[in-house]
Order: sequence, then structure tokens, then C-alpha cells
Amino acid sequence: MKSHQIQLTAYPKGEPGSDHFNLVEVDLPALRDGEVLIANRWLSVDPYMRGRMSGIKTYVDPFPLNGPMEGGAVGEVLESRSDAFKKGDWVMSMQGWRDAYVADAKLVQAIDASILPPQAYLGIAGLTGMTAYVGLKRQIELTAADTIWVSAGAGAVGSAAIQFSKAIGAKVVATAGGAEKVAYCQSIGADAAVDYKAVDNLAKAVREAAGGGVNAYFENVGGTHWTAALEVLKPKGRIAVCGMIQRYNDSSAQPIPDNLTNIIAKSLRIEGFIVSDHMDLRKDFITDLSNWMMAGKVSGEETVREGLANMPNAFLGLFKGENRGKMLVKL
Ligand code: NDP
Repeated sequence: MKSHQIQLTAYPKGEPGSDHFNLVEVDLPALRDGEVLIANRWLSVDPYMRGRMSGIKTYVDPFPLNGPMEGGAVGEVLESRSDAFKKGDWVMSMQGWRDAYVADAKLVQAIDASILPPQAYLGIAGLTGMTAYVGLKRQIELTAADTIWVSAGAGAVGSAAIQFSKAIGAKVVATAGGAEKVAYCQSIGADAAVDYKAVDNLAKAVREAAGGGVNAYFENVGGTHWTAALEVLKPKGRIAVCGMIQRYNDSSAQPIPDNLTNIIAKSLRIEGFIVSDHMDLRKDFITDLSNWMMAGKVSGEETVREGLANMPNAFLGLFKGENRGKMLVKL
């Protein structure tokens, strides 16, 4: 059987283009004992993949050039030579950027597509939702007494963070690019939202929207947002540093913000995290998420592109703000 996969042709400097990607047809090996043949139905599209395109090892290896790339994916079992799976079962794996694959059954995880749509396991009920949960619960230790600012609030992690924060009882100010995204942030519970592209002074706009300062900041953007956060946070404020997408395509050196001393003056607590280091929270996450979903407090928004050939454009679209909620490719 043939499989089709997107391969990276070169490590981009600055903003990647569609010429950095190639759609390749490969032969799949015959199935051996203990293996499964999977047809992917949904592919996860994530900003962190940009780091794996840099050619530099960070907390994960870079993608190989002219070889298969990885990413979250859910698919159906087409054929199984493992007792763990039968034809028609839904599974999740890291074998994204391709339409089909053969794998050791131990490397794929069963998902229950009767409880939630299968693609939800890549979004609100998957690592995306878990990322928001870890940042709020473990790094920020958010309570109902807090006012939190969530940046990239209309994105996958950001929209989850807004809803989880409201479910915890906190007051939420969101930032996002454009009036339509601002309205969306408010529709999912943000008490106030700011179009960061439309304001001259982001710190002032967020402070006013919050009715004073904030005690917590969920960082998804970095750069100008980071500088503003150091202004807006009240003494003893907490920051969960989740992502800094504003810098991912920017290879130029940037000056250090001149308000870093606010970290001392305000006794700020700042902590970065990688979601996969906090899987001990997974059980708590599923319990809270189930309760919040059943109470109608949380839902998952998706932006869906169709077809494997559109995977590179879906990925590049993240950096142009084309998604609302989780960016997915449907196969
Ligand atoms: P998003 O769904 O938020 O998609 C990206 C969004 O970021 C865009 O829609 C856009 O929103 C905004 N954006 C893109 N470029 C810029 C820019 N130059 N300046 C400001 N905003 C920009 O992605 P995710 O929810 O998947 O990820 C959110 C963040 O969390 C990312 O930084 C990601 O790397 C990080 N992350 C970290 C994890 C961890 O373990 N620490 C795990 C998962 C994600 P807008 O139109 O509003 O500008």
C-alpha cells in the first residue's frame, strides 16, 4: 500500500514558505505481528512544530530533512496483527503529516470516539487542553479571586485557557488580533477582550479592560505582549510562560525589555513549562474537563483545512492568525 507524507526540504531561516515542504509518496511495509495499519483522519497543526524546523535540538529533536515529520494525529485501524486493536478502532499517535502508516501497536493509543468527536483528542481533550490546564493549575495556581490575562485568546490553547479560567471562577481579560476574534473571546466567557493590533499602548488597554491590573498572565505570544505584561501585573503576580509565537519566525536578535526590573519590584513569579513534563495531571484534567463540559462551561472550537496537501498552508496560517480555536487538517 502507498502512503503520502509531507517532508521538510530545508531548515527555514525566518518565515517558512510552501517551498520548504514536499508531498511525497512512499511504499508502506507489509504488516508484521504486533503491528497495525492506520489511516489518519485528522492531523494536528501546532506552532511548536516551527521549533522542530529550525535544525537545532531543543527539548525535542529537529525534524529530519527529506524524511517523515511528526505531529499529533488521530486515525482508524485499517488492518491489525495485534490483539490490542481491531479494524475500525480509533487511535491517536504522533504519526502526523501523513495519510497512512504502519506502526508497532504499542506506539498508538486507543481513543473513545463514542464520547467525543475523534479530533477533540487533538484539541480541547488532548495536549492543547492539557497545556492550558497545566499552565493555569500548576504554574499560576489560578483561583476565583484572580484576574488573569490570556494572550492569543482566540487560539487553541488560549480559548481553552479562557474557558478553564472562567470555570475556575476567575475574571478574564483576553487579547487577540482583530474585532472578530475579540468578539469570539467574549462569546466564550472573557469578561473583556482587547484587539492588540488596534491599540497603540497594549499595557494601558489591558489595564483598562481589567479595571486595574491583573494578578496572572498566561503567555502565548512573547515580545510586545511580554513587555506589556510586566507593566500590567500587580505585585506578587504569576506568569505561566507557555509560548512566544511572536519570536518563532524571527531570527534577529531583540533588545531585552527595559522593564525587566519589574520582576524584582513586583516580586513576580514566572515559570515556563513543557506540557509533556506534567502528564501526572492528566487524570485531574480529564475529571475537571468532563465536569466542565457536562455543565456546558467548556467546548472546543476548530478551524478545519481539508487534505494532506494543505497541511503546510494550515501550518503557515498559524503565523498569520488564520485559525480560531484548534487548527486541524481533515483527511
Ligand atoms: P494558536 O491556536 O494560538 O495559533 C497561533 C495564534 O497565535 C494565531 O492564530 C495568532 O492569533 C497568534 N499569532 C501568530 N503570530 C503572532 C505574532 N507574530 N504576534 C502575536 N500573535 C501571533 O496556537 P496554540 O494554541 O497551539 O499555541 C499557543 C501557544 O502555546 C504557542 O506559542 C505555542 O507554541 C504554545 N504551546 C506551548 C506548549 C507547551 O508545552 N509549553 C504546548 C502547546 C502550545 P491572533 O490572530 O490573535 O494574533
